[in-house]
Amino acid sequence: MWDAELDIVIAGAGGCGLIAALAAAKEGLEVGVFEKTEFILGNTAASAGMIPAADTKLQKEAGIYESEEEMAEDIQIKNHYESDTELTLALCKESGKLIDWMVDDLNIELSLVKEFKYPGQRNIRMHAPPSRSGLELIKNLKHKVANKENIYLVMKTEVTDLITNGENEIIGVEVTSSDGKQRIKAEKVILATNGFGANKDLVKKYIPEIADALYFGYEANTGDAIKMGLKVNASLASLSGYQGHSAVAESHGILVTWGTIMMGGFMVNLNGNRFGNEPHGYSEFAVEVLKQPNKNGYIIFDQEIFDQLISIEDFKKLAEMKAFKKAESIEDLAEQLSVNKKNLKKTLDQFNDSAIRGSDEFGRKDFAKVLKPTYYGIKVAPALFHTQGGLKINKHAQVLNENLEVIKNLYAGGGAAVGVSGDHSYGYMSGNGLLAALGFGKIAGDHAAESIINERMKN
Ligand SMILES: Cc1cc2nc3c(=O)[nH]c(=O)nc-3n(C[C@H](O)[C@H](O)[C@H](O)COP(=O)(O)OP(=O)(O)OC[C@H]3O[C@@H](n4cnc5c(N)ncnc54)[C@H](O)[C@@H]3O)c2cc1C
Repeated sequence: MWDAELDIVIAGAGGCGLIAALAAAKEGLEVGVFEKTEFILGNTAASAGMIPAADTKLQKEAGIYESEEEMAEDIQIKNHYESDTELTLALCKESGKLIDWMVDDLNIELSLVKEFKYPGQRNIRMHAPPSRSGLELIKNLKHKVANKENIYLVMKTEVTDLITNGENEIIGVEVTSSDGKQRIKAEKVILATNGFGANKDLVKKYIPEIADALYFGYEANTGDAIKMGLKVNASLASLSGYQGHSAVAESHGILVTWGTIMMGGFMVNLNGNRFGNEPHGYSEFAVEVLKQPNKNGYIIFDQEIFDQLISIEDFKKLAEMKAFKKAESIEDLAEQLSVNKKNLKKTLDQFNDSAIRGSDEFGRKDFAKVLKPTYYGIKVAPALFHTQGGLKINKHAQVLNENLEVIKNLYAGGGAAVGVSGDHSYGYMSGNGLLAALGFGKIAGDHAAESIINERMKN
């Protein structure tokens, strides 16, 4: 007995779920998006909205020509070739089409982020809303979904189980709301419930190295896709992969852009000493910050960097909240930050010498500049942003079982599925999160809808 019937059910109304819905709502197919919480926020809203993509119209307009293969290679160099090569390439091949579709068909305003290149990306390839904020991105997606008559957005309703027939094929879902449980029949189901960052037990089990850090993602992301998937014998992959971040302004609850580092800043500990090669990657650097006294770091940068970053929404917010300490002398800055004064002065002098030389004892080679007064500094904490492992999928975002066969009618994307970051924190390249969320969301939505249309044409 069914309580309702839809063509496609999507669990989770984050970036992955909403993109999947917009892609799937073809030829009048009825798509239901069930969201556990009362808000459309999720990690997508918390993100900086930066979506990496190759071979986009926006890149070409800026004179940047790169292939999807180059993008895939950058991603795999970063993750030491731990991610599935076919999946990584499929996602990169989708990326350019995704951005062009969002701009041309969905009329979502995106622009190329030309301010700086993220670690490991050989070309400028980040695309983001004007405010560089995920909140703007998700608001736009929500608005597009609201305008589609054949997409039903159902809030405060959790997808709690997958319903199968005798052959382990998915034929619907069970949802739970304040009205109790309901059984929804569906031809295809897409899991877009993100990862397990908010589930302390699972984080301790799969990623103990980051379990003590602050969790800076959405509280509803408790690993539901994994729990439901396991019940239908889904295969899991890369559960120890995650995105960490080294720079959350904890008392303000806002991320400090890594642009502060990439444009020439550095990080010290409470003793005023540097402790690693910062530009190598903010994700893996989080574990290094956790090892420092008081488990905090302090980013040091200067006026020139400040002026270039002020257009970024979160950075501007921090500046307005006076979160950055500011001083004409490095000693004065150290005092304001309560960092060892003598050491910070020595560290700055050494850093500037290294910048002129182009290398240092930590292997850093990216020195955009020498730092000059006025100096800025901010105390930051390391955090777990989101997990990168999940349900094993193929290049069509179809979930695979333990024998690596397709579980019929089941798809996953974003944090619910395995991403392209491999098995370690060092594998996360900036943008991998939204790339996997929006890219696999689009692939899943397209494939689910087209399969239904093709199956109906055959019958
Ligand atoms: C602070 C921060 C900054 C980031 N910046 C970037 C960036 O600039 N670029 C980038 O690529 N990535 C970034 N990321 C990562 C990126 O945000 C995520 O990888 C991406 O948003 C994941 O999208 P999603 O749709 O899978 O999950 P989400 O956007 O989190 O959506 C999942 C949704 O599913 C809902 N849900 C969960 N369980 C259920 C259930 N059982 N039933 C129904 N609904 C359910 C949740 O409530 C939520 O609304 C950042 C992450 C954080 C935390």
